[in-house]
Amino acid sequence: MRNFLIAGNWKMNAGPSEAREIASNLVDALNNGSFSAEALICPPAISIQTVSEIFADSPFKVGAQNVHTEDNGAFTGEISTSMVKDLDVTHVIVGHSERREYFHETDKLVAKKTKKIIDDGLTAIVCVGEKLDKRKSGDHEKVVLNQLDHALNAITRDNAANLVVAYEPVWAIGTGETATPEQAQEMHRFIRFQISERWGKDRAEEVKILYGGSMKPKNAEELLSQPDVDGGLIGGASLKADSFSEIISIAEKISK
Ligand code: PEP
Repeated sequence: MRNFLIAGNWKMNAGPSEAREIASNLVDALNNGSFSAEALICPPAISIQTVSEIFADSPFKVGAQNVHTEDNGAFTGEISTSMVKDLDVTHVIVGHSERREYFHETDKLVAKKTKKIIDDGLTAIVCVGEKLDKRKSGDHEKVVLNQLDHALNAITRDNAANLVVAYEPVWAIGTGETATPEQAQEMHRFIRFQISERWGKDRAEEVKILYGGSMKPKNAEELLSQPDVDGGLIGGASLKADSFSEIISIAEKISK
């Protein structure tokens, strides 16, 4: 029995009205039934409350796409872990390549946020992944290892169960291009090995490693069938209730 985490990242899409519609459709699509895969939606901050209310009596969880490292204060435009916890958020994405690229988030800041998220009782979904030039030059493992090292150094082995690593090759995000199942498995195995070198095999097994990059119903089965792929971080396909629920059903089928 495998315990998948199927997480949706809505990015800067779906304000409260649209979020209400998609979230309600999701609950309906899965008939509000119980499923063993963990399913999570990370809406934009302004829609967290709406989605959280709709998911209240369902198995779906709600996540945030970003938080600040402080609890409150003069940080215009930011939100904190205590604020999202107030809305029953369980997970926070950190280090997404879009935040690294457009908001200049460094490995150091990603590490600091990871620690803050975990220290405050939430699960951190730490995104790592190489750009196309590094994949082509064969430096992809080096890039991922460096990103991973920063995050791991900020926390301890006792935090393993509250750490999720999302391997998202930047060249596969929003491009329609997906890593092959072999490329995904190879990197996931590498990430698990690196964690086990630091924290031991048992702790490394506690860390879920998600694949992200144009995952959709069409390719989900072969990706999720890889032994070290513990789920998906899904952008585009999570904005449609039918495709996201289909991926959850695929995970459900494989997990049995
Ligand atoms: C993402 O935003 O993390 C992502 C993987 O997006 P997409 O599924 O659209 O490639």
